[in-house]
Amino acid sequence: MFEKVLKELERMKRMQVSIPVETDEDGYYDKECPSENCLFQFKVLAEDWSNKFNDDSVYCPLCGHNAPTDNFWTTEQIEQGKEQAINQVKNRINEAFSESAKEFNRKQPKGGFLTMKMEFKGSTTSSFILPIPAKKELEQKITCSKCGSRYSVLGSAFFCPCCGYNSVIETFDNSIKKIESKINNIETIRKAVTEISADEAELTVRSLIESGLSDGVVAFQHFCELTYLENRKTDEKIKFNAFQNLEIGAKYWETIFNESYQDWLSKNEYWELNILFQKRHLLAHREGIVDEKYIQKSGDTRYKIGQRIVVKEKDVMNLVRLINKIVNEIRIKIGT
Ligand SMILES: [Zn+2]
Ligand SMILES: [Zn+2]
Repeated sequence: MFEKVLKELERMKRMQVSIPVETDEDGYYDKECPSENCLFQFKVLAEDWSNKFNDDSVYCPLCGHNAPTDNFWTTEQIEQGKEQAINQVKNRINEAFSESAKEFNRKQPKGGFLTMKMEFKGSTTSSFILPIPAKKELEQKITCSKCGSRYSVLGSAFFCPCCGYNSVIETFDNSIKKIESKINNIETIRKAVTEISADEAELTVRSLIESGLSDGVVAFQHFCELTYLENRKTDEKIKFNAFQNLEIGAKYWETIFNESYQDWLSKNEYWELNILFQKRHLLAHREGIVDEKYIQKSGDTRYKIGQRIVVKEKDVMNLVRLINKIVNEIRIKIGT
């Protein structure tokens, strides 16, 4: 009686449903990192996705996870795809049941004592496959300086999804952007947390501002170390975290350029930068409590031993300005 249904089920074992995925208005596809602890969503220009990307190897712009192209569907694409595939299956089974019911009714002997009628109640409206729409375009569009692939992200990116290239400059610029956005949003954060507790708001805000100093010095250290290693003239080993220390770092640059921080900054700027670096050192190693070494190395006599240093938004912004000035000077000199 249900041959049609059984036949249909048999056919469906080999059934494939292909569902088109749309690009956004700028021609970009949505992608998502398959690494469970990342799931970063980004976009890739459709033209480059077809012509430049290698099927076996795509990189997540945020974490650098590497996997074949078909691992990069977004959660939404998979959900919508599944839903449409299930609808297709349901529809075909329903149609087969409906056909079987009609056939059963046709085969009933006319005029008999007992007639049976089979009625199928499921829906058999045909379901069309709809292309999966793309999310809204992202503002930040990036072109890889190595392979030329075009992609876009929200926030920041460290790796080109096509070739995996990790640009030192982009990483530095991203870190600076992160620090600036932290500082620019301090008031919003303060307001939001104050609604829960004024005490916690103060602690949160202070910790965010102080972390700006450390983020800045770490970004500077990373940029300087990699750039120095690429451009140095000798093979001598460099000290661990050498560029977290202005005096030591300056000596390395002198071996390449015959000049360094004190030539690139005014006397006052260098003095301010040195204080900020020393403050970062205190926060990292002494909970921010002033010791003799701090006063001696920074020349900052506004504090007495045992006091705790104070860091304000403007200090972090000043650090960003000064390290940017140095980084730009180095970039001009090495031509990047
Ligand atoms: Zn990732
Ligand atoms: Zn690339």
